[in-house]
Amino acid sequence: MTRENSNISENIDAIRTRILTAAAKSGRDPQSIKIIGVSKAVDVERIKEAYNCGITDFGENRVQELCEKYDIVNMECNWHLIGHLQTNKVKYILDKVSLIHSLDTIELAAEIHKRAQKDDRQIDALVQVNVAAEDTKFGISPDEAADFIKEVSGMGNIRIKGLMTIAPMVPNPAEIRWVFAKLRKLLIDIKQENIDNVNMDYLSMGMSNDFEIAIEEGSNMVRIGTSLFGKR
Ligand SMILES: *Cc1c(COP(=O)(O)O)cnc(C)c1O
Repeated sequence: MTRENSNISENIDAIRTRILTAAAKSGRDPQSIKIIGVSKAVDVERIKEAYNCGITDFGENRVQELCEKYDIVNMECNWHLIGHLQTNKVKYILDKVSLIHSLDTIELAAEIHKRAQKDDRQIDALVQVNVAAEDTKFGISPDEAADFIKEVSGMGNIRIKGLMTIAPMVPNPAEIRWVFAKLRKLLIDIKQENIDNVNMDYLSMGMSNDFEIAIEEGSNMVRIGTSLFGKR
């Protein structure tokens, strides 16, 4: 594997500096912004290295990879499922994940609720919103998000904690600032509805290419892979 920069500790320092700058620019508290180290395709030794540099939260987009690493890494870290979740894989992860970022259908929510109820667990989840309406991406449309959340709010073993989006890949991330602004506005609108069993605490948006702009628009969870671990 070739990497532009394989020094994880230096990479993390650089990310923290970029977060400070973006937070300062928008008058936000940098401490309120959580880094999710996206560890897909990254081996366990490097995950441990990042953990030793203070990264406590890791994101995987595949269930199998998350389960394998969960067993091997064996640290006091939090695992996030950030990729599409198939209903038939729910059962493998409920005892492992701190937060599911990709809740996107009622069928999936029903399965999570049913399994979680059986195990007497509460599962925290973010609703994935396909803000830019890309055919290639999963997620609820912004117009349907509030009704979707109201329906899920009746499922007592799921706690909705906020919204997540993946912005389109563009060379100049300033072009997609509107995507982040729109998700933030949606979060505020839904918060104002005061739906039972629903908290709009987290706005999971921003990746290596665009996290500064996402922070300027209110993100408090940035999912960073390449800038942290190097090229996959
Ligand atoms: C891979 C991935 C990321 C991280 O992407 P980078 O560009 O490497 O920072 C973030 N979110 C999701 C959902 C991903 O699949």
